[in-house]
Amino acid sequence: MRLQVLGCGDAFGSGGRFHTCFHVSAGSASFLVDCGASSLIAMRRFGVDPNTIRTVLISHLHGDHFGGLPFLLLDAQFVSRRTAPLKIAGPPTLPARLQVLRETMFPGSTETDLGFPLDIVELEPQVTTQVNGVLVTAYPVRHPSRAPSFALRCQVEHRALCYSGDTEWGPVLIEAARGADLFIAECYTFDRPVPFHSSWMSLREHLQEIGAKRVLLTHMSTDMLEQVAIDGAERAEDGMVLEIWPDTGRQGTGA
Ligand SMILES: [Zn+2]
Repeated sequence: MRLQVLGCGDAFGSGGRFHTCFHVSAGSASFLVDCGASSLIAMRRFGVDPNTIRTVLISHLHGDHFGGLPFLLLDAQFVSRRTAPLKIAGPPTLPARLQVLRETMFPGSTETDLGFPLDIVELEPQVTTQVNGVLVTAYPVRHPSRAPSFALRCQVEHRALCYSGDTEWGPVLIEAARGADLFIAECYTFDRPVPFHSSWMSLREHLQEIGAKRVLLTHMSTDMLEQVAIDGAERAEDGMVLEIWPDTGRQGTGA
């Protein structure tokens, strides 16, 4: 499994980072986890061909996490000339919310033929769904978005990736990320409590119990970006590539 960070910023542009978007490729699977408003720009910046994306998984319905979908669809229709099917999976009400978003940003855009099959899937809480070869389990987290907000656990090619979404600390993250090969954790502040977001101090005390093999911090505010004393986790950077893990890597094959 190869993961590239296309965006690890918050909603406020802290540190000049792109909105949340991770590109994962594993075997025949190629998918995005979240597609924030700036994600198409990030795909161009880091050389990801939008036509290679088969699936987009959405954690929650905020603009810095799903606001890039109208641009992705418009590009697919008029510039990239996509023909392959695209599947988008996310929280309940995603089809209606995306319809409103597309019409608000580009009036009339939902009335024309895209030129490729678009399938929008609503994920159910605590249910594992097969989405284009990726096993996705959605865990409800504490982050109001007028729809359920999720942490997403994705299993593909015998690897498990958990993304916390945006949330304040809750024990559901232990279940969602337990033993994962990679846990991408929202870490908005260092120690300052902010409602519905996580701090490094709240995460750190649970990392041992979670037991993820690798922890990547994302969605950092300016004050978190300025901290130097982080032990036991890596900080995401836009463009960063993680191999989880090559066949000759530390976990060998078939694990
Ligand atoms: Zn966010």
